[in-house]
Amino acid sequence: MGTSEAKAADRALRDLDGMLPDLASLYKNIHSHPELSMQETRTAGLAADRLRAAGYEVTTGVGKTGVVGLLRNGDGPTVMLRADMDALPIQEATGLDYASKATASDREGKTVPVSHMCGHDMHVTWLAGAARLLADARAAWHGTLMAVFQPAEETAEGAQAMIADGLFTRFPKPDVILGQHVMVGPSGTVAGRVGPITSAADSLQIRMFGRGAHGSMPQASIDPVVMAASTVMRLQTVVSREVAAAEAAVVTVGVLQAGTKENVIPDEAIIKLNVRTFDAGVRARVLAAIERIVNAEAAASGAPRPPEITTLDSYPLNVNDGAASKRVGNAFRAYFGADRVRETGPAPASEDFGSFGSEWQVPSVFWFVGGTDPELYAKAKEANRLNEIPVNHSPKFAPVLHPTLQTGVETLVVATCAWLSA
Ligand SMILES: [Zn+2]
Ligand SMILES: [Zn+2]
Repeated sequence: MGTSEAKAADRALRDLDGMLPDLASLYKNIHSHPELSMQETRTAGLAADRLRAAGYEVTTGVGKTGVVGLLRNGDGPTVMLRADMDALPIQEATGLDYASKATASDREGKTVPVSHMCGHDMHVTWLAGAARLLADARAAWHGTLMAVFQPAEETAEGAQAMIADGLFTRFPKPDVILGQHVMVGPSGTVAGRVGPITSAADSLQIRMFGRGAHGSMPQASIDPVVMAASTVMRLQTVVSREVAAAEAAVVTVGVLQAGTKENVIPDEAIIKLNVRTFDAGVRARVLAAIERIVNAEAAASGAPRPPEITTLDSYPLNVNDGAASKRVGNAFRAYFGADRVRETGPAPASEDFGSFGSEWQVPSVFWFVGGTDPELYAKAKEANRLNEIPVNHSPKFAPVLHPTLQTGVETLVVATCAWLSA
């Protein structure tokens, strides 16, 4: 970290301590008022209010509920900071006094519990805090800051919705795009890497067609239950037999549905599966293998027509640019000290953050901020029980407020200053 970077970051972060009580109450406010994907109007309103109060030009309704704040502060690079805003249809079981009791109507019109069990409430709070601190310290840097609050990360729609709504044409092209996620890890630490940071994810629905008949007369049927069962077993060979030892992939069948009654052979079966990969070539091979196996198993059963394969959602591979992530890593090590900055492997989680950089052809960097009580983490690690700490999407996912809140604001400010103070 150069001296001007350090000076700008220090100047901006001078006021962070005094701001923490306000940020904690913003966090609790958003946490107890979670909103499902593409319904984030209240959260977006809070974000927009904060940006306006800090002096940003604010555009709302980008990709339905997205918010873009611009702070033009003289010549220099443009840095885009992104936070996602949506919550999940999960009944919170953290027992916190600010736990969510909210419900909402999902797309099928069903009433579902809603909670921030992925920590996007933390992301919104971090970005609101960093945006304010950088605005107040604008004398210490120059360039353009672009704060983006994105809808619907959990459904892989939000980034695409903002892009489709003109993100790339209505706003300045950034020189770098930065994003972060709260994860299991000691609070107060940061983890990152060069290269793939989160996996590509593809969810498929497969309809397999047979011919129904009375259960007593299998000869009159083409049994989709056996067809689907055989397909599920054969799909296990994609990773075990077609992916090399040094490569990685996950193929999980999460849904297998057929039939209504024990003595009726149904007409069709449904399989829903999820694929995770860390390399474009491996992804293409795995998806092709699935298609080949599904079609061949249907043919082996004598199916009356080929299976229908539908993509349910698709998250891009999220790849950290080499030079940009080194710049971020150096700035983090200089500010936090090397012991608080960890190197991580690629996470088998997925993120649509990668779409912004890959489609706009802008280097992007994504990192993880620890949200686990450091003492609890150390004890769990010692006892080899790290996998018992509730992870994102668990109904008990509960990042500790301090110093998680502070660290995530610091990371955004420090990384931003690595570009805007040169
Ligand atoms: Zn999530
Ligand atoms: Zn998330």
